[in-house]
Amino acid sequence: MTAAMRDRLRGCLFGLAVGDALGAAVEFKAPGTFAPVTGFRAGGPHRLDPGEWTDDTSLAVALGDSIVSVGWDLNDQAKRYLDWYENGRYSVTGKCFDIGNQTRAALAQFKRTGDAYSSGSSAERSSGNGSIMRLAPVPVALAGLYPDQVKLLADFAEQSSVPTHPSAPCRSACRYFGVVLAALAAGEPREEVLSPTWPVLDDLGPLHPTVDAVARGSFRAKQPPAIRGGGYVVESLEAALWAFAGAQDFREAVLRAVNLGDDADTTGAVCGQLAGACWGESGIPADWRTGLARTDLLEAALGGTLRSGAMAAGALPSDPSARADRRQEGPSPTPVPAVSPPAGSYWVVTGRFLAGCFPGSLDPVEQERKYGAFADLGITTFINLTVV
Ligand code: MG
Ligand code: MG
Repeated sequence: MTAAMRDRLRGCLFGLAVGDALGAAVEFKAPGTFAPVTGFRAGGPHRLDPGEWTDDTSLAVALGDSIVSVGWDLNDQAKRYLDWYENGRYSVTGKCFDIGNQTRAALAQFKRTGDAYSSGSSAERSSGNGSIMRLAPVPVALAGLYPDQVKLLADFAEQSSVPTHPSAPCRSACRYFGVVLAALAAGEPREEVLSPTWPVLDDLGPLHPTVDAVARGSFRAKQPPAIRGGGYVVESLEAALWAFAGAQDFREAVLRAVNLGDDADTTGAVCGQLAGACWGESGIPADWRTGLARTDLLEAALGGTLRSGAMAAGALPSDPSARADRRQEGPSPTPVPAVSPPAGSYWVVTGRFLAGCFPGSLDPVEQERKYGAFADLGITTFINLTVV
């Protein structure tokens, strides 16, 4: 990994936290009803100190901590979200002081069942921005899948939405957003990545029509108030892209985002991921970088290679998809099979024996899709090891 790419991957997570902290002071305020944000300030609904961040960053830190600690495990991700909700782990104040409705309901369900695959509501009306706001650790950990395994990268990004936000628009938004972040971190030009005709869009698989409209440039054709920093995933993604696409640098991008008001911390967090992945940690104004609270938590969530001062050639597995498999973490990751397995599964014996999550689903269409994916790999016999 080059130093420039490392800078952009660090920027993706730090940008998230900076955007969140900038917006926290004006969260829930209608646009135009507050003195424009120009830097960190105290206050907001949670009465935070300047530079302190909210649930967006706490959940991203929890997700990153899970990935660097155990690899890819949705139940572990949900367990850490629950630990934040109940015990204040990953919070700047040591307490959970804000939580979205969908996340709260999903974590309550997860606490009852222990199953992150069925804890969230997949109803289309349950399409808040809670999974795009925390997404950075996925492209950070799996950046090496871009550009050769875009679909697999998108599958991981999509799956990260499932524990709390499994609706089709949320999952689609994560597919698109995760690949955009990885492409920016890889150094692809912003204009190309945001182009309606970006060829990579064809590799993502079909997106939900509302997300596809954003990916095809809806944010270029609108201005506020048609652009809104609201809590709906599509509107949040669109607003962050509008702020990012029209800015000269990191500072301008995130300030355009948070000054939309409403769900300002989250629009800031989503835009901050884009701006940080594009302009890097070095593009974040120095006073924001140094004024950010609890950067130790962010560093921990980045994992060894990306921790400041810890850059070491070869410290990441040569294939980042190996990080999805905790058994493969170690000095000699198993080479990737010619055919990549579906997200959430891995080859025990390449081409012969696959292990992973139970592929069932209550949704018959989804179930057929899952079994079809296994059939495509030649898997015809299933052994259910689920403990009931
Ligand atoms: Mg928040
Ligand atoms: Mg918010």
